Amino acid sequence: VWGRVKNVCKQNGLLILSVLAVVIGCLLGFFLRGKQLSEQEVKYFQFPGELLMRMLKMLILPLVVSSLMSGLAALDAKCSSRLGIMTISYYLWTTFVAVVVGIVMVYIIHPGGAAQKEDSDESKKPMTSSTDMFLLLHYRTQRVPELIFKPTVAQLLDETTTRRVYIYGIQDDNGTDVQNFSLDLTPPPDVIMKTSPGTSEGMNVLGIVIFSATMGIMLGRMGPNGSALVNFCQSVNEAVLKIVAIVIWYFPFGIVFLVAGKILEMDDPSAMGKKLGFYAITVVMGLVLHGLFILPAMYFFITKKSPIVYIRGILQALLISLATSSSSATLPITFKCLLENNHIDRRIIRFVLPVGATINMDGTALYEAVAAIFIAQVNNYELDFGQIITISITATAASIGAAGIPQAGLVTMVIVLTSVGLPTDDITLIIAVDWALDRFRTMVNVMGDALATGIMAHICRKDFVKEGEQVPLICETK
Ligand code: ASP
Repeated sequence: VWGRVKNVCKQNGLLILSVLAVVIGCLLGFFLRGKQLSEQEVKYFQFPGELLMRMLKMLILPLVVSSLMSGLAALDAKCSSRLGIMTISYYLWTTFVAVVVGIVMVYIIHPGGAAQKEDSDESKKPMTSSTDMFLLLHYRTQRVPELIFKPTVAQLLDETTTRRVYIYGIQDDNGTDVQNFSLDLTPPPDVIMKTSPGTSEGMNVLGIVIFSATMGIMLGRMGPNGSALVNFCQSVNEAVLKIVAIVIWYFPFGIVFLVAGKILEMDDPSAMGKKLGFYAITVVMGLVLHGLFILPAMYFFITKKSPIVYIRGILQALLISLATSSSSATLPITFKCLLENNHIDRRIIRFVLPVGATINMDGTALYEAVAAIFIAQVNNYELDFGQIITISITATAASIGAAGIPQAGLVTMVIVLTSVGLPTDDITLIIAVDWALDRFRTMVNVMGDALATGIMAHICRKDFVKEGEQVPLICETK
């Protein structure tokens, strides 16, 4: 028995360390909460976690660009268009299913009803100048960089002018926070924008994906003339994965501080109250149903392979997504897991995964639908069937537009709320629990991308693998 235990530990050492890191991080965080650390001390404490986030973010850009350019250049026009159409259709389909799951759950559990019965007055005017609410918002302000919104969703809101969503607090002349806050598309001039060090560099991943994919297709068509750039991208891709193999050993250490640091920052859970509890339970149950049952079932029916074995291969990536709340930051790890543990053809990963990490967010879509209907329930709005359809369409669009960074979904939810005339200010109602729900929905986002890659590899296997063929060098296929 001891021999077997040793074997398991040897094979899954990093995974076990990462799980332990999450547990230790939680314990440490709750222990230190009692110690009343100063803001400065908390910042120092968060430093190793911030370093982990930065290492991961550093790898996103080279990975996405090199993957898509070399991946698409490797495919002939027929293969790439087939893979492209299948992938995008599958992503849209699963996102739509996620939204339906969310809507069904929120109507069954009816969390907003509980909120109304409990304290209907308070829930009707969430924008009162309650200090608690202000602090929550103030906290959020520091987490919402304008850049999340500008590059990805501005186009969805308005084609011609760049409108952004601002969640802001207002300060008086002395720089003291006053108890006013609002959420709007056009900020008054005295708005104080605060950006978070963790997310302010929210890059335009969607734009990068579109550009790199177009370049990749063109390079493929250029044949030998494009080979220099294609080979360069392939080398970058290999190098990024080698860097991942090194920095992966820092993860357990970084995760401890990332998780503990977040717990230190978190608002008092008792302030959450019963109504938010029901709302959180609804979101989590929907995510569990979609992530642990529906998506794996689809994988099983299409590939006839065990989803459990497949999910075991991506556990490391799921843990990282739980710790970072960012599917983009998790991308390098998901890539590595799929390649090395699940042995998926790298040509498929290079296309399906970066596109998925950017546009396929089942967890986010589900949450947006639940949150919008929860807000309607709290306000006692009766949504008709047409409005529910509108919510499903806009929740899908909002999840496509959300960047794979922490709490991006909270911001894009404005699209969903405005589409059916719900008060956008009521986003403040759900802010208190969002940091936690974000972790779970990010896990489902990552799970959806990873399972989709396995499914596409199965569906397109005949297009890609010829008898006894290894993954070919790009230029040899031309
Ligand atoms: N944090 C999510 C992700 O990175 C996006 C969101 O729903 O806020 O996938």
